[in-house]
Amino acid sequence: MLRDEAGDLVKGSVNVSGKLSDVLVVSITAGGKRLAERLPFRHVHGDLANTVRSQWECVDSFVLVCATGIAIRVIAPLLASKVSDSAVVCVDESGRWVVPLVGGHHGANELANDVAALLGATAVITTATDATDVVALDTLPGFVARGDLAAVAAAILDGAEVRIENPLGWPIPEALARRAAADGAPGTARVVVTDRTDVPDDSKLVRLVPRTLVVGVGSSIGASADEIDALLVGALADAGLDAAAVDRITSVDLKAHEPGIIELARRRSVPYVTFPAQVLHAIEVPNPSDSVAAIVGTKSVAEAAALIAAGPGSTLVIAKHRSAMATVAVARRARPEGSLRVVGLGPGRAAHRTPAATTAVRSADVVIGYSPYVDQCSELLTPRQDVRRRPIGAEEERCREALAAAAAGATVALVCSGDAGVYAMASLVFELAPEYGHPPIEVTPGVTAALAAAAVLGAPLGHDHASISLSDLLTPWPVIERRVRSAATGDFVVTFYNPRSLRRTRQLADALSILAEHRPPSTPVAAVTDVGRVSQRVVRSTIDAFDPTVVDMLTCVVVGSSTSRWSGPYLVTPRGYRS
Ligand code: SAH
Repeated sequence: MLRDEAGDLVKGSVNVSGKLSDVLVVSITAGGKRLAERLPFRHVHGDLANTVRSQWECVDSFVLVCATGIAIRVIAPLLASKVSDSAVVCVDESGRWVVPLVGGHHGANELANDVAALLGATAVITTATDATDVVALDTLPGFVARGDLAAVAAAILDGAEVRIENPLGWPIPEALARRAAADGAPGTARVVVTDRTDVPDDSKLVRLVPRTLVVGVGSSIGASADEIDALLVGALADAGLDAAAVDRITSVDLKAHEPGIIELARRRSVPYVTFPAQVLHAIEVPNPSDSVAAIVGTKSVAEAAALIAAGPGSTLVIAKHRSAMATVAVARRARPEGSLRVVGLGPGRAAHRTPAATTAVRSADVVIGYSPYVDQCSELLTPRQDVRRRPIGAEEERCREALAAAAAGATVALVCSGDAGVYAMASLVFELAPEYGHPPIEVTPGVTAALAAAAVLGAPLGHDHASISLSDLLTPWPVIERRVRSAATGDFVVTFYNPRSLRRTRQLADALSILAEHRPPSTPVAAVTDVGRVSQRVVRSTIDAFDPTVVDMLTCVVVGSSTSRWSGPYLVTPRGYRS
């Protein structure tokens, strides 16, 4: 976990093997609950055993506020392997001690240190190296360690300071930085942070290889993984670069399904991402080719893809190399990559927001969104975050801003109301992502307005249903009308999003009259406005009597199918269980 200069927690998530992950705090007593509430993680109070059991497979790290004996009895039957088990940290009821129980090298020790810092407690670290405040060099996430590990570890255990050389200025874990000898001091042991292999093979020297390199690949159809890999290995060796630094393989969209490249990425256990030809064509490269441009639509594949995937400020460290059927080029990142979470906050109140959405917002360095959506999660924000409230519209600018921040190394949350993918930013983010080098993107789902409105009404979505947006700003009205007609003839329950605005006043009435051609006049219609907020309003009616003027921009309109009916205040569409 990272800290800022003031030592404050910078991420609410622990980065386990490069994966975005989360932390769950479980308390069982009132005192424990108060402690838990001081931590910036999601929290469950009560039923510790069942909570841990049911969440074991999906939570990366647990903080259990209870006696170690209780925690040990609960987790003992769940422990399977040091590699896959969740990290578990125990905090005593009085908040004095924080004990990592398992997963010491998978984030538990770091998490314990962070929890201790937040609570003003003492972390009780028992794993061999950390017990003496020494970093386990071979388990640092994001690095591969090579060289005389035993000698350097022994020197550190003896209390020696380490000379750290970091010519790339790559961020290194604080625990290692703490061991650094003062500038100019010789240090008994050396740690060199580099992606280069040409470091003299001294005793008491460890080379830490960060994941700096991105490999662009061009290939003819059918080029084998063996051929591309041999080309890559040769090029890296000639350039004095370490293959362990390879972080990603990349190419043009046309090659997205090229088996040899996919196999290369699988063998090297790195992601494979591709870019549209026009995105690559816009990148300045040293070796453009008109003949490639004529066939593929970009003057460079390998060099351009490597440069864009490696992000802003990257440099080409290996220009295009060629074999019979393939080309490779390698770019070096200027910094580790950031990430973007497109977060659905739910319809309104915090209780309808998922714990994952809460974690995503809390753990972001940068939070971006349309102002009211940022306000919707304002209680999660802290002064250390870069919070950017943006005006209505300008959706593309908002997405570009979020992508650019992620590409520049930040952990970004782009917040949306309801679900992040339903008439919201997620699709646009993925459309634009290639232009920003495909930073890692995660969508955090939320409760969409239709589901929240349905829950208020009863069970209108018990059978097949369709959602239709009535906004003709981005979709021509004839297309919308055709979809309404299809839903009408298909007898779907319909939820209308964007039913009306100040300017768009006609659409809802038109859509309802299409549905009315195919449904009885008594068909239930409901309008739920500001669902989940204190101002929530519900209008219950039928298709012949419904007044569209009760509807505004923040209304979701639900129209029943031929089987939907009002049952008192409840709208029900039978599934057919009672035939
Ligand atoms: N991503 C959002 C939808 C955005 S489109 C979601 O998944 O809910 C905006 C439309 O969603 C609004 O015009 C309205 O029809 C609906 N909507 C959003 N929030 C709402 C709320 N709190 N109550 C009722 N309708 C809502």
